[in-house]
Amino acid sequence: MTTGPSPPPGPDRPHAEALDAADALAAFRTRFADEDPGTIYLCGNSLGRQPMAAARRIEHALKEWAEQLVDGWHGWLDLPARVGDLMAGPILGAAAGQVVVSDSTSVNLYKLAMAARAAVPGRQVVVTDAGDFPTDRYVLEGLGNRRLITADPITGPTVDDVARALDEQVAVVCLSHVGYRSAALADMAAITAAVHDAGALMLWDLSHSAGCYPVALDQCGVDLAVGCTYKYLCAGPGAPALLYVRTQLQERLRQPIWGWFGQRDQFAMGERYDPSPDVRRFLVGTPPVIGLAGVQGGVEVVAEAGLAAIRTKAVALGELGVQLHRAWLAPQGFALGSPEEGVRRGSHLALRHADAQRIHHALARDGRVITDFRFPDTIRLGLAPLTTRFSDVWDAFDRLRALSY
Ligand SMILES: *Cc1c(COP(=O)(O)O)cnc(C)c1O
Repeated sequence: MTTGPSPPPGPDRPHAEALDAADALAAFRTRFADEDPGTIYLCGNSLGRQPMAAARRIEHALKEWAEQLVDGWHGWLDLPARVGDLMAGPILGAAAGQVVVSDSTSVNLYKLAMAARAAVPGRQVVVTDAGDFPTDRYVLEGLGNRRLITADPITGPTVDDVARALDEQVAVVCLSHVGYRSAALADMAAITAAVHDAGALMLWDLSHSAGCYPVALDQCGVDLAVGCTYKYLCAGPGAPALLYVRTQLQERLRQPIWGWFGQRDQFAMGERYDPSPDVRRFLVGTPPVIGLAGVQGGVEVVAEAGLAAIRTKAVALGELGVQLHRAWLAPQGFALGSPEEGVRRGSHLALRHADAQRIHHALARDGRVITDFRFPDTIRLGLAPLTTRFSDVWDAFDRLRALSY
């Protein structure tokens, strides 16, 4: 079938086992529930596995509820800001007082995009990428005056793509730090600087980078950010989302949902809305206490492992996958749907194949490897560094090559 040089043989399983033996994070696997050790779970980019630390925090919150009833609110009221501060330094590279955990990513995106646009006088346009995650595109579409850029679907938006869309009408640019489909890693510092040069504000969605990449919000001069906690932060299904607003912007920004948890003196029950002077003004209503307990546990285990070690392993897991793709899958009609170089990728790999949907189902049923399928032709392999072994990657590719005849 192929006439060119034959592909390299590909690393063997002992090579993957040696990488596992040398893995500084190997022991973290045992800190997560694993009810079905015979199945390889490669969807941690969609829903992270359950950390025992999160289960313990949730059990503790249930006990507080049972024992303390309404008095529990003395401890729970400020959880959105407390859990925000817990993740700010180790996960987001942000000083305290700039992060809260509340609502969903979709709702936080709406709040911050509306607030940012209103804070840039005389400008109405919100710029985003046509290939961004659906909810982000829809929320911004609903705002009106949306301008789309069309970035390369594999390498993602570049500084030049963004610069071309900037003019004196643009108030806000909103992009994903790591693309949900290809895992392309955007140049946060350079894009943020270009947006600032054009007089606009920058809003990053960290859903696919928080917990798997050492985000440096303060250092990159980022204005605003949102992101999921139930992916690489392993906080549990539907756990509340993160929201970051740079200190210097907080008093200037007014979010559109005026709720009592954003009020300066909440229990004065005052007649008029008077927003809190700090990041709490971006809160709305009563916090989801059980969900926040899950975020606390997830953040604790990720912070203990440390983002530097997590990132190093993510790159190594991806590199093994790229090598195996090149050796085994490319000759069988697969194309890499992610940037080939580790430094340009987040923590998942996308594989494209004309028959991807069938292969994805067969891989789950016959191969016992859980991945996800993204219409029309993409299989995503989530390589969550705290729970994925090198031998899992090797086995998953071995089963993929057997199924993709
Ligand atoms: C997962 C994800 C979301 C999810 O938003 P929800 O409001 O939690 O449903 C949003 N944006 C991006 C980029 C995501 O990857």
